[in-house]
Amino acid sequence: MIPPIASRFVAGETPAEALEHTQKLNQRNVNVILNLLGEHYHDRKPADEDAEVYVRLLEDIERSGLSACVSVKPSQVGLDIGTHVFRENMERIADAANDTFVWIDMEDHETTDATLDVFEQLTREHDGGVGVCIQANLKRTEDDLERLASLPGKVRLVKGAYDEPKEIAYKDKAKVDAVYREYLEYMFQEFEGGIAVGSHDPAMIEYAKELHEEYGTDFEIQMLMGVREDAQYELAEEYEVWQYVPYGGKWMSYFYRRVMERKENLLFAARAVLGR
Ligand code: FAD
Repeated sequence: MIPPIASRFVAGETPAEALEHTQKLNQRNVNVILNLLGEHYHDRKPADEDAEVYVRLLEDIERSGLSACVSVKPSQVGLDIGTHVFRENMERIADAANDTFVWIDMEDHETTDATLDVFEQLTREHDGGVGVCIQANLKRTEDDLERLASLPGKVRLVKGAYDEPKEIAYKDKAKVDAVYREYLEYMFQEFEGGIAVGSHDPAMIEYAKELHEEYGTDFEIQMLMGVREDAQYELAEEYEVWQYVPYGGKWMSYFYRRVMERKENLLFAARAVLGR
């Protein structure tokens, strides 16, 4: 069982707990992106098993009628073993999703080409029912966005979570913010498949609202479970909001990352341990 201290960021260990969390959020007009925790498998067995869990989760979502979709990490379903394993498992997952949207998360720069290739194939085959994440900190993203503009399927723009080499990525936070804005404007002008603003940054959310006013393009806001949840509920009164909700037995390293990334989260964890 997940200790109460981690349950701010992780919905539980089982699909039933994740769906219970989904139901509560749906009641507050927030939609849910479910992510089974797991990454970097070097054997086929766990990769295939996690793909199977997603297939069953998709059946559960469709039976439940909840407003939810899934988001899959490429290395969780076999990319570290080979692109063919990743492709086969993503095909299984996308085939199992009838009316439910399937996102593909983006990992470090060595995986970008394979991830975009598999995304392109699947989103064409599934009439735009598959989406992909793209990272503003990578210098190549300007070119990738041009390719993505011509495809069906939603694109989630994030700042980028991986510590990439300076030759291929912007390292300066202000520069990443500047290109994030630039890419967002391009997306509001050119994208027909759908735009997701994957950020907790109030400045980026405000900018997206302005772009929506200017260009009339629809967009959705995506934030993580446990981060700025009050803002999520408030935004959901006017905009489409999706909460990214991790669940599963492998919650420890995810919880650790969340706690370490911000001083406030570290204090929250320390207070919980000390019982204050
Ligand atoms: P930051 O630039 O970190 O912070 C800017 C401002 O936002 C802060 O000053 C503060 O005002 C506010 N803020 C940020 N975090 C918090 C917090 N914890 N509590 C309170 N306020 C806060 N990255 C990938 O590389 N691949 C992915 O597939 C991917 N998927 C993602 C999916 C979603 C739904 C989200 C939200 C992020 C995802 N990311 C992914 C992570 C992303 O790349 C960033 O690392 C992460 O979101 C931090 O950047 P930011 O834009 O939220 O804000």
